[in-house]
Order: sequence, then C-alpha cells, then structure tokens
Amino acid sequence: AEKTPILELKNVVSAYGRIQALKGISIKVYEGEIVSIIGANGAGKSTTLMTICNIVKAVEGDILYKGQRINDVGSDVLPTMGLCQVPEGRRIFPRLTVLENLDMGAFFRDDKVAMKDDIERVFDLFPKLRERRKQFGGTLSGGEQQMLAMGRALMSRPKVLLLDEPSMGLAPLLVQQIFNIIKMINEQGVTVVLVEQNANLALQCSKRGYVLETGSVVMEDAADKLLTNPDIRKAYLGE
Ligand code: ATP
Repeated sequence: AEKTPILELKNVVSAYGRIQALKGISIKVYEGEIVSIIGANGAGKSTTLMTICNIVKAVEGDILYKGQRINDVGSDVLPTMGLCQVPEGRRIFPRLTVLENLDMGAFFRDDKVAMKDDIERVFDLFPKLRERRKQFGGTLSGGEQQMLAMGRALMSRPKVLLLDEPSMGLAPLLVQQIFNIIKMINEQGVTVVLVEQNANLALQCSKRGYVLETGSVVMEDAADKLLTNPDIRKAYLGE
C-alpha cells in the first residue's frame, strides 16, 4: 500500500479575482522529504504556498495535511498544527529585536523552558543571530533577515516548513549557506517544501521536484532526474 502524504494538494484551483493562478494542481509531499517547486516568474509558485496556508483561498480542490482537509483552517492556526510558511521577502518585525522576533514564532506555546532550548537550537543553526539577538530586526542584513525568518518559523516546531524563495537577494556565498541549513533542518526531521527561482540549487538539495507552468504542473520527478532532463536544463537551469 502507498504511504499517505503528510501534505497533499488535489486538483487545487485558486484565483485572483477572475484570473486563475492555479488551474487544478496536484502535489504530494511525503514525511521527511525536501520537495522543490520550480518554474518561471508568474508560474504560480508563491500562490501555491499561499493557497496551502489559506492566505489565498482555494476555490476548488482539496488541501490535505496529515490526511485532514485544511482548506478552511485559518492561516494563523496552521502553525499551531505544525504547518508553517516562511513568506517571500521575509517579513520579519523590523522594530522588534531578534529575540522578540523569535518569540513571536512561538506565540501559541506556553512551554517557556522548551522555548529557551529551541532558541538555543536556532542560534546553533544561525550563529549570526546569537551575536545580534538584542538588535532590531530592521537593522539586519538581507541574509540575516532571511535567517531570522527561518528561525522564527522553527520556533513553532514545524512538521512541514514551506519556504518561499529563501535565496532571493542573497550573495552567492550566503545562498549556498542557506541551502546547507535547509538540509540540516530537514535532517532534524522537518519536511520541507521549497519554492525557488534558483532551480539548480533547489533541486540539488531536494528528493523530488514539481515544475509549474502558468498555473499547471507540467512535470514531476525525482530531483536528480529533473536535473539531468535536457528540456528542464534548457528551460530552467540556465543551459
Ligand atoms: P514569482 O517568482 O515572480 O513570485 P510565482 O511563480 O511565484 O512567480 P505567483 O506570484 O504565484 O508566481 O503568480 C502567479 C500568477 O498570479 C501571475 O500571473 C501573477 O501575475 C498573478 N498574481 C500574483 N499575485 C497576484 C495578486 N496579488 N493579484 C493579482 N494577480 C496576482
């Protein structure tokens, strides 16, 4: 028998007004995987994550998390269930300190002692954040803000982490570092869905990938297969 995915989209349609951004997409994510969603600008990658999180409403189809339909679960409730998104552009709180930002990620938790441990774990992953823990979020560099956004999400102890363009706007050295950290987070037991323009690096750290084109899934395969597929190489991997 086939395993039940931890997250599944079944024929999901979502729209901005009358414009369909997702035209009935189906995606399966199994526990422990890193799954990439790649595609050109405007293909619907960000919309996919926002629809999973009920920031954009699915007008058709089912979104299942641990076998439960979550179409109508509020975006503020999903993190308490272990499903947490790191949005594109980071959206940290600029006027809160690094520590306060991390606390916000655990807004629904009351286990203060365990939270302290988790903050230390975040600082072990992102040592720069430890150095800057008393600084305002807004004073951090782009890369540090990305780390803070990821650290804040980890404070909710996610089972599934949805990452929207984590490499966006980062210097090449930092990009590699962020992908290494994504792998480490995954190795600590977090399932990861990764939306990326940087298809090469995303697929390199993924188990499987989906290719989106104008709101439809046009291909899905093992990441190593996609990386060596000539059509994919030409269209998305800069060949
Ligand atoms: P990018 O990498 O540029 O974010 P993407 O693959 O994530 O691209 P989406 O941002 O999901 O693509 O956009 C999918 C489609 O929906 C595009 O045609 C886009 O123009 C449209 N769209 C996105 N956000 C909105 C919005 N707030 N209002 C109207 N249309 C939108």
